[in-house]
Amino acid sequence: MAKVYYDKDINTGSLQGKTVAIVGYGSQGHAHAQNLRDSGYSVIVGLREGKSFDKAKEDGFDVRTVGEAVKDADVTMVLLPDEGQPKVYEAEIKDNLKENSALAFAHGFNVHFNQIVPPENVDVFLVAPKGPGHLVRRTYQEEAGVPALFGVFQDVSGNASDVAKAYAQGIGAARAGVLETSFQEETETDLFGEQAVLCGGLTSLVKAGFETLTDAGYQPEVAYFECLHELKLIVDLMYEGGMENMRYSISDTAQWGDFVSGPRVINEETKARMGEVLTEIQNGQFAKGWILENQAGRPQYNAINNSEYKHPITAVGQELRDLMPFVQNPIR
Ligand code: NDP
Ligand code: MG
Ligand code: MG
Repeated sequence: MAKVYYDKDINTGSLQGKTVAIVGYGSQGHAHAQNLRDSGYSVIVGLREGKSFDKAKEDGFDVRTVGEAVKDADVTMVLLPDEGQPKVYEAEIKDNLKENSALAFAHGFNVHFNQIVPPENVDVFLVAPKGPGHLVRRTYQEEAGVPALFGVFQDVSGNASDVAKAYAQGIGAARAGVLETSFQEETETDLFGEQAVLCGGLTSLVKAGFETLTDAGYQPEVAYFECLHELKLIVDLMYEGGMENMRYSISDTAQWGDFVSGPRVINEETKARMGEVLTEIQNGQFAKGWILENQAGRPQYNAINNSEYKHPITAVGQELRDLMPFVQNPIR
């Protein structure tokens, strides 16, 4: 079994007394900054003026321009959107990095695909939480944590790995488990997971189920509850105790249906498609397409985003969630 690090296994000495600059204050940024501060580290936040800047100030941080934050940092964690990182790195980070400091990321994309080429005189590592930023913060406050991967790309100081582990510990990840990886493995598995299973696979599965029921004349409200709402309840059981716990809780009829129909829906054909998705991630085709899409101003991204929003599941979902006050909807 892979070595999994927990709080008791991590010596935080290599990060104690150091200044961490968190660049960006979005989903991951606010969580890293607040968790590290609560863990006793000295944190400064680097941002442009705007919404996040005001929010970070309101939350009591020393907020500076990106360059001014990086200048004083022993560890610079880059938590900008991946597609925007190269530009900000070139203009504001690169020339402000202190010699022998550390440059860190929460996803390996830009370093792995050579969109950012770090200088030779700094440590380079990643600490990638395996969960959304808002849960990185929420679970920390609940004395729990989101697991994370750490990986070292460049070790100048000789203790990049210890600093990375201490950082992961500081954001609360070592309560859940911290695992070593490489930039390549983290980048490729993260992209695959979000495309094939967690985000892409899941939304396509939900829509296909919803459409099959509504096309057959069933009520959209019933289809929504069946194919989307209930998913969380099922996933919670899997999260808590694996597939065996979910199967323990459902009826034997449901479990029999799971056995005989599941593999007809997700089958060898689906796995072959997943293999293609993985190949395009590994050979850089996905990265190239996404980089070019951004350079072109995201025409396809915006078109698909608009048409997805018009899917009938959106309207029925909004109506039903409004009637369930206990369901939190942070984007509305
Ligand atoms: P977000 O889009 O949520 O946040 C981006 C932040 O960067 C905002 O505070 C934004 O501020 C700021 N920003 C954007 N452009 C600039 C700029 N030019 N100069 C200064 N600040 C800027 O990003 P995420 O948290 O989603 O992603 C950050 C990293 O974490 C990525 O590498 C991602 O892959 C990784 N990651 C993300 C996960 C997630 O849960 N979202 C999970 C695991 C890893 P403003 O308000 O001014 O726009
Ligand atoms: Mg991920
Ligand atoms: Mg990702």
